[in-house]
Amino acid sequence: MLNMIPQLIIGLTNLVAAFLLLYGLKRMSSPVTAPSGIFVAGIGMLVAILASFLFVFGVTAAAKPHLSMNILLAVIGLVVGGGAAWWSGKKVAMTAMPQMVALYNGMGGGAAGAIAAVELFGDKPHGAVQLIVTLLGALIGAVSLSGSLIAWAKLQGILNQPLRFHGQQVFNGIVLLLTVLVGVTLVFYTQLPEHAVISMPALICVFFALALLSGVLMTLPIGGADMPVVISIYNAFTGLAVGLEGFVLQNPALMIAGMVVGAAGLLLTLLMAKAMNRSVSNVLFTNFGEAKAKKQGAIKGSLKPVDAGDAGIFMRYASKVIIVPGYGLAVAQGQQKLYEFVKLLQTKGVDVKFAVHPVAGRMPGQMDVLLAEAGVPYDLIFQLEDINDDFATTDVVMVIGANDVVNPAARTDKASPIYGMPILNADKAKKVYVLKRGEGKGYAGIVNLLFYADNCEMVYGDAQASLIKMIEAVRGLGAA
Ligand code: NAP
Repeated sequence: MLNMIPQLIIGLTNLVAAFLLLYGLKRMSSPVTAPSGIFVAGIGMLVAILASFLFVFGVTAAAKPHLSMNILLAVIGLVVGGGAAWWSGKKVAMTAMPQMVALYNGMGGGAAGAIAAVELFGDKPHGAVQLIVTLLGALIGAVSLSGSLIAWAKLQGILNQPLRFHGQQVFNGIVLLLTVLVGVTLVFYTQLPEHAVISMPALICVFFALALLSGVLMTLPIGGADMPVVISIYNAFTGLAVGLEGFVLQNPALMIAGMVVGAAGLLLTLLMAKAMNRSVSNVLFTNFGEAKAKKQGAIKGSLKPVDAGDAGIFMRYASKVIIVPGYGLAVAQGQQKLYEFVKLLQTKGVDVKFAVHPVAGRMPGQMDVLLAEAGVPYDLIFQLEDINDDFATTDVVMVIGANDVVNPAARTDKASPIYGMPILNADKAKKVYVLKRGEGKGYAGIVNLLFYADNCEMVYGDAQASLIKMIEAVRGLGAA
């Protein structure tokens, strides 16, 4: 009976960790509850770590006393890893968040691959099923590691051009097939009594090298607008790999955390793919990112510059204003000035709302976080499906640093790489002001037809500087 108590404590700790992770995730689904959701999930991770320590050093160490020697290494790993994460999390700029997500994601995949490597290189005998699960986790983890690192390099601007060549998909398929074949060979040879017939460590190294290469090859051809979907696919991969290795180690905390991350990543992948109008199978099995580089349709109209102050004054006398924030707002760090301007308009009786596109910015939820940081109340922020019908009855739309998410080419130009992507109907408003620095294109690298429309005027300059001019102009009117 007494012997069962440690197992009971470990089981309960795992249960608490699972509950906290799921509850935290649930709270992250709304910007209102997301900060506390992150905190709850963080506590869940701490409890999961505690459960793992109890598991390894409580139950197993009793049977294998030498394991307790590893406690120092594990603590050092936790302190170094936790410290680096804490420091980089505090330091990272809002605009560099996607790179950081890609990097952390890759680390998760790498950790799963490392667990698999310890199992494969170790001297423990493995049954066929256990070996298959280990290899599967190793393959997925390694793909996620190298693929995420390539995604990081692309987002960081180190790798600028998608790398494509003739017969690429066939080549990628052959490399993946070879990886699987090496894995199958490993399983068969390990089941033979005389399994030292070939050098297993060498074969394991070949397996990992091919798996890592697969991740690189899968990600290299991806360009531009598909990147968020790719990152969330790798997020799902990492979760799956961690869950599989949890199964190998018979560690419930790892299994639960892995499956939660895997499921969340998969759901995010589906949502992102929908928001960018790509099917997941298209993203997975085609030369994804292959934007059909056909010629863009003819452009009618002209770009019409307007003074920031004049635009501000025009909005002050409007009844309904919708603001569309985009990546450029994060670049300009203009969120505080934006909210200051909005409050000013509100004191003048203007009805102001924010319209957020699901892929505005460079990561899901980036605009919500940016606006929350400036203190914008959540009831002023509307998602695409909740506000898109309002544009037609709106006096002014102010597009700040957004581009692709308001490009009508998505509706009309079949040759456009963003064709079919749901966009915010900014062009349907009576008047549109676009705040941007110059003729820069958006992430998809295409011309925005909205900017040339009759009802659209361009406020050129850094978004924060333009907002400051707008605030000064409206304040300059006095109580009028
Ligand atoms: P966008 O299409 O990338 O356009 C951003 C615009 O901001 C640019 O046209 C740029 O024009 C302007 N800009 C940059 N710095 C500025 C500054 N300091 N002040 C004023 N304007 C500035 O942005 P978006 O409309 O938010 O669309 C997001 C795009 O990123 C979509 O194509 C989406 O698919 C893709 N994407 C999304 C995610 C995600 O998960 N949200 C992740 C990766 C990629 P100037 O250079 O002329 O100033």
